[in-house]
Order: sequence, then C-alpha cells, then structure tokens
Amino acid sequence: MISLHEIKRTIKSVVSESRRDLKRGRIKLSEIYEMIMEALPLDIPNAGPMSAQNIEKYIKDRKVYPYSGNKKVDPNLDKYNRPFIHKGAVDVLDKEGNPIMVKNSKGKLVRYAGIADARSGERYDIDGFRKLLTERPKRILAENGKMKKSSGETELYYNIGIPALHGLVVDESTGDFIEVTTCPNAGSCKVYCYALRGNYIRFEAPYWNAARKLNFLVNDPTGFKNQVATEVRYLQKRHQKDNSKLVVRWHDAGDFFSPSYFKIAKELADEFPTIDWYGYTKAAHPFKDDSNVTMNFSYDAKPDQKYQIDAHKTKLAITLPDFSDAELAQYMVKKPKFDDKGKPVLVKKGPKKGTQELEWDWTPQGLKDFKKFISDWYRNMPFIRGGGEYGEQLLTVEPENILSYQELMETPYKPENKLKYCVVIRPSGDGDVAANRKDVWISFLMYH
Ligand code: SF4
Repeated sequence: MISLHEIKRTIKSVVSESRRDLKRGRIKLSEIYEMIMEALPLDIPNAGPMSAQNIEKYIKDRKVYPYSGNKKVDPNLDKYNRPFIHKGAVDVLDKEGNPIMVKNSKGKLVRYAGIADARSGERYDIDGFRKLLTERPKRILAENGKMKKSSGETELYYNIGIPALHGLVVDESTGDFIEVTTCPNAGSCKVYCYALRGNYIRFEAPYWNAARKLNFLVNDPTGFKNQVATEVRYLQKRHQKDNSKLVVRWHDAGDFFSPSYFKIAKELADEFPTIDWYGYTKAAHPFKDDSNVTMNFSYDAKPDQKYQIDAHKTKLAITLPDFSDAELAQYMVKKPKFDDKGKPVLVKKGPKKGTQELEWDWTPQGLKDFKKFISDWYRNMPFIRGGGEYGEQLLTVEPENILSYQELMETPYKPENKLKYCVVIRPSGDGDVAANRKDVWISFLMYH
C-alpha cells in the first residue's frame, strides 16, 4: 500500500510545482489530479522492508545454504518465500574496503563472488549493490522470436519480464531495501516455473535485467511506462516497411501484482492500438474492466481469485499434467524439427550434437483421440466449486471446438468467434499465438 506520508509528499510537491500556473488559470484542477496520480509511486500490496543489516545476513546465509528450494533449508531462505539474489551480484570487500579479486578458470582476475569472512574484516558491498540495482535497465522489451502466419505476415514477439515470485528493490526516496511479492497469486505453478530455474538464475545478466526493471517500475512507474512507449515507437519505425506486426507479452516472468501496475499495461495498449498486447495472469483484477490487453487467466490461480472470474466469459490457460513418453506415444510420433525458415534444427550439446533435433507431433488418429480425451476430461470439470460472485462453475469443452495449434494457424481469425476455440499446445514446437487470439477460449498447455 502507498503510505499516507507518500501521498502527502506527492500532493505537496505537485501542487507546489504548479502553484504559479494554477494562480494564473493556465492549468485545470483535473490536470493537477492527473499529475498527482502519475507522480505517486506504484501501489504494491505485498511488500515489506529489509534492513541493510538483515540483507547482509540474508546474502551470507543464501551463499552458505545455496538457493535450492530444499525443504531442509531455513524457510526464510526458501526460494518460494524470499527474493533471489544472484551470487555474483554483491561484491565482497576486504578490510580496506577494496573488492576482493580472484583468478577464474581462464586465469583472468574477476571479483570474488564467495562468502565474506567477518573475522578477517571482510564484508559485502551493500552500497555497491544498491547502486547497481538502481541503475535503469537499458531495455525493457526483450526480443522473443518471430512467427510467420499463413497470411504471409510476420509477427515479432517481445517480452516484458520482472523477477518471478519475489523481487528486491530499493526505495529510492530513502535508500531502504524492500521485498516485493511479484506473483502474489501463484499456487502450484511455482514448482514448475521456468523463471525460477535455468538461465533465469544461472547467469548474472538476466538477474540484473529483471531486478532493475522491477526497481524502475516500483520507483518510477511513469518513467517505466514512457520507456516502454519509446522502445515500442522505435520498433514500429524499424519494422515499418517489412509487413510485420509487433506483439508484446507481459510477463514471461512475474505477474500484475497490483491494479495500478495493470493500469500501465492498459494505458500502453490504448496508446498503441495497432500492437497486440497480451499476457497470462493469476490475478482477477485485470478482468474487472474492458481493456485492450488480451489477458489469459490461469486455471491454477488461487480460489479467492477464481471466485471473481466468470469462466465462460474469460480467456483461460490450463496447464495439463506432465505426460510421460509412453503417454505421448499414444497420440504422437517423434519427427525431425525445423525452424521457422524451414532449416533443420540441430542438437547443440551432448553425444547427439550435430544431429537433427526431434519433436513430438500429432498422428491424425492421435489428434482425434486426444481431442476426445480432453473433452471427456473437461466435460463438467469444475472451474471452481461453489461460492464467489458466480457460484459453482463447470467447464464444458466440446470436441468440435478443440483445435491443434497447427489447425488454429490455418483457421482465419473472425471477431464473431470470440472465445470459441480450445487449443492444445504441444510440449514443444508450438508458439504462443493462441494466447494472443480473442477467438480462443482455452489454451491447453501440455507438459513433458
Ligand atoms: S505466476 Fe508465472 S512467473 Fe510467477 S511463479 Fe507462477 S509460473 Fe512463475
């Protein structure tokens, strides 16, 4: 929540800056109101302070007990409860205050990313960490591939991501560290969340990228929005002549943790109506009013959010349980994989390096059987049992409205087919177009 102090401080500063214009009637009260709303920091419902002393202990403990999600680890260090900090993000200083340097495997001198030994006067460079965290990200939109449509048009996908589950920011008006819950409605998804593992946490660059975006957003939401707008304008100009469409996905990691955050997305979508803006969420608030952002509500959201959703009027994303090889083999065969230019995709590592990658693809009968399996499974499947604004809600999926991703790509978009189709997305090889089309009601996401 924004504190009363923040509200008073913002009103005072906006009014004092506009005093002269107000007196001379050069500015309206409604404009002052807009200026105050823009100047207020972002509303963050799930945030708490972390003192500099506590952060030093947290960094040390995290290095002693690695970020593993292991149940034996102190719950205060559990990756599901606390923010991730990359092990290389905080320098260790010697007792003279100089960064400790060590040789890496190539013999190059690099900053020591280990554990500070307080007995010998070593400490963590918290001021340096604060300074790095408050640097503005160079880019907010990250390129995420192309998609060629049957119409010949190319769609260019960009992502906006923030840290998954929890993040750490600096309150730039005080210098204090604040923990922010970025996915307040995440449930079981945190267990399979790809943004809590792999390259998202292995390398330092993606860590800084996401952490700085969140810090920017929280401290200067208007600046954040303006930077997205500037990047979008630049991309529009760059792709003016090549028959391509820009598509921006909110949150390859993170979620709309507050309505005031979603307001930014809405305003951007209104400002750039020719761009497709879409995203997945586990929050109900983005569906309260109409917006030009195509949102997909995740089925595994918490019940208090599901109670607020009318499932038959809402675009949904349902993650299917993990399929084993044997289960997939009932419906699919493994086929050689090609990229969007038709070139064979080769294995990059391991003993099969250089050979063509394989991926699961439907057999004609397998696809028919899978559609039946899905419609049987979701015939009278409860979206949520009893209670809430809409009471008991059942999902009924008709087999004739279920499409494979390929079939969707061959189906022209017609606005009158709003929320008509249910699309099955294979474990790999399919894109994200279903989540961005308004004629798709449910995206069934397969896992393997
Ligand atoms: S809501 Fe998304 S980003 Fe957040 S934990 Fe779940 S899967 Fe990960």
